[in-house]
Amino acid sequence: MIDTHCHLFLSEYDPDRQQIIEKCINAGIEKMINPNVDDTTLNNLKELTTKFPKHIYAAYGLHPCSVKSDYRIKLELIRSFAAETSMVAVGEIGIDLYWDTNFLNEQKKALEIQFQWAIEKNLPVIVHTRNGFDVAYEIVQTFSGLTGVFHAFTGNREQAIKLIEKGFYLGIGGIITFKNSGLDRVVSELPLDYILLETDSPYLAPAPYRGKRNEPIYLRQIAEKIAMIKNIGIEEVEAITTENAKRLFKL
Ligand SMILES: [Zn+2]
Repeated sequence: MIDTHCHLFLSEYDPDRQQIIEKCINAGIEKMINPNVDDTTLNNLKELTTKFPKHIYAAYGLHPCSVKSDYRIKLELIRSFAAETSMVAVGEIGIDLYWDTNFLNEQKKALEIQFQWAIEKNLPVIVHTRNGFDVAYEIVQTFSGLTGVFHAFTGNREQAIKLIEKGFYLGIGGIITFKNSGLDRVVSELPLDYILLETDSPYLAPAPYRGKRNEPIYLRQIAEKIAMIKNIGIEEVEAITTENAKRLFKL
């Protein structure tokens, strides 16, 4: 299986990063895609991909929560850093109006610039939206030839279909295991061909680990939940979502 979204370069894993990654690989989570956060996380992420070249893959971008008035300088730093290293996507980028709405215009501009960057590099995008789906989707619509994933998707059926029609995948993670998320109903009606599995480690650990530090190994809890919802075998969920990830990220 492939964890299409985790942040193993963050300090939460400083005490036991190596063991966590080896445990995952041994358990069949053979690849883990790590989207960057901002200019302070670039070196740690690159170091990790160098250490585990067959298992850890990087996406580079500026996270919307790190977009402030100096975003152009940060984008330039990230862009020049990424020019000299391998990456499978532009991310994590998007719109987040949950924590701070003061930089909405900057977030929109940064997203446009990074979408354009992805098109130039012929790479998919990893999009984060929190209270920002409509704003992000509006910008997506102004681009053609763009593909990628809306990670930690929690939207409704209409939003899911709009994304699929635009050539996007939906990243499904621990939230689907939370009681009353409503996401199980949405996912039950969607074709598996557009779903990617992700943990968003260290955040959003699935039940029964909710609230604890998340790990890519819990991807299996998410696959199990999807199998249950769709009334199919976990092997089928694993096989199809792994193919989806390989197709999108050209792994
Ligand atoms: Zn993330």
